[in-house]
Amino acid sequence: MGDISLPTPLPAPTWPNRFQHVDTLLDHPGPSTDPNFIGSEAVQCFLCEDSKVLIISTGGLGCEILANLALMGFADIHVIDMDTADTIDISNLNQQFLFRPKDVGKPKVIVTAEFIMSHIPGTKVAPYLCPDTYFGKIQDKPESYYMQFNLIVCRLDNSVKARRWMNATPVAMVNPDMPESLKLMIDSGTEGLKGQARVILPSIMSCYECSLDMLNKQTVFPICTIVNTPRLLEHCIKWVSMLEWPKVFPDKKLNTDDLEHIQWLFMHTSTHTHEFKIEGITWSLTQGIVKNIIPTIMSTNVVIAASCCTEAFKLMTNCAPRLDNYFMLIGEMIDMPVKKEWMLERLIRALVERQDIQAKKPSLSVNGCSLYLQAPLQLECATCPNLEKKLVNLVNVGDELMVMAGLLPFNLTPRVLLKD
Ligand SMILES: [Zn+2]
Repeated sequence: MGDISLPTPLPAPTWPNRFQHVDTLLDHPGPSTDPNFIGSEAVQCFLCEDSKVLIISTGGLGCEILANLALMGFADIHVIDMDTADTIDISNLNQQFLFRPKDVGKPKVIVTAEFIMSHIPGTKVAPYLCPDTYFGKIQDKPESYYMQFNLIVCRLDNSVKARRWMNATPVAMVNPDMPESLKLMIDSGTEGLKGQARVILPSIMSCYECSLDMLNKQTVFPICTIVNTPRLLEHCIKWVSMLEWPKVFPDKKLNTDDLEHIQWLFMHTSTHTHEFKIEGITWSLTQGIVKNIIPTIMSTNVVIAASCCTEAFKLMTNCAPRLDNYFMLIGEMIDMPVKKEWMLERLIRALVERQDIQAKKPSLSVNGCSLYLQAPLQLECATCPNLEKKLVNLVNVGDELMVMAGLLPFNLTPRVLLKD
């Protein structure tokens, strides 16, 4: 990699009102701005000239964060790619919008830096530079390296080990006598339709380590369910891959990268699911489950990156109160299968019974019309005749129910699936 030339930043253009929209936020304090905030040119200059941000990741989310920060006026951004041999693969092109077909095979971190610097003049993107490489383990860098930044934005895939290290380092660096030793952190992550962004002030706020035991455990299915009473496609795929494969091929290890192996699994799972009347098996689902693939969804990356960058902007300028301290996106649709002959009252009972919803005394509406309201009394009286009505007369297939309940901190919108 030694012969790769470093991209050089384009000179900052001097067109007037370039950051007009951002400057509007910094000119005057807002209604909930910290009383110490003095909107001024000094804050704008800090953003463009003195602030230094480190982004750890050049994945789909990292690219999105980098572009957003550069467009907001952050002018000195450093990027580390943890993977020593991370070059652009053709499969990256649909999720990382900074990459083009001509970039396939090149190191991600270089292409990322070049793209941003050539499209957003005045931005300096420094890929982490060892004597002859742009890559490296975050663990190899000394404390002095991290000390130069004001803010660290992490997206460490799902590597718990790396995240714990990256969390512990700024915590250990905090020196109460040196305010500048406090490195603000934003931790982010996405997984399919779910994502999270989190602000961490090391040693002051709860950090990654504090919530380690809240991490999602991998779903495991009891073996007796897989063998005797499979209900899900996952159960059937596990049955074929864990039990049938070793029986049929005692001497051959299942290779999840081998397309012929996946084809065999798919064929046998199809037969198995047919026997148990479970519908919907596909080749890609089979592959996804045996390989444990969670799809990257661009819209999730975009929402999480926007949240991270808004927080970065607020942390660096103090122009508005920061996130306290967790933002979570759950983009998944909850399906609510119901029987056609059910009354509304039965649906409410089903909602209360659902473990994943846990709604007590829910009120329901659909398409803006109230179906049943628990309170106040007048509205309860007006809507309670609906409890005795059949669902087919109240909702259509695929309608989104709006569920409101005292204990739910938000409104749930499960999708109704009418069945015979
Ligand atoms: Zn902690």
